[in-house]
Amino acid sequence: MSKCQRCGKEGEDRRTLWMACFYQMNELNIPFTEKMINGTLYEKIGEKKIKFSPNSTFEHTVPVFDNKPYDEDDKYEYRFYTLWVCKSCRADWMGKIKEWYNEMPFGSVSNRTQYVQTSSDKGIAVKYGNSNDG
Ligand SMILES: [Zn+2]
Repeated sequence: MSKCQRCGKEGEDRRTLWMACFYQMNELNIPFTEKMINGTLYEKIGEKKIKFSPNSTFEHTVPVFDNKPYDEDDKYEYRFYTLWVCKSCRADWMGKIKEWYNEMPFGSVSNRTQYVQTSSDKGIAVKYGNSNDG
């Protein structure tokens, strides 16, 4: 049993949220724990399906990262902020990220849908651009 840092509920299914944006996130007045990893950055290069167990018929997709050799001179410090939260708070967090990503700021240019202010102050969804890079 441990306590969710956001809602305070005690429970078993607690996990760590990791966040970083090269900004002092402690200015948000949220009780983050600041951490740092000194290591090598590996980029995702694909995905593969693996079985849950050797005899299982169920598969799930996992990321595949580049397999460059470990290089002592290719290490970076990655600073980030964490919160220890329950499943419900993780779901809220993911929902807010999705909401933030999908609501384009007024005046932005993207091939994604954005909401444009109208004379009645009700937003209408408009698709911009032709590229597939956004
Ligand atoms: Zn919680």
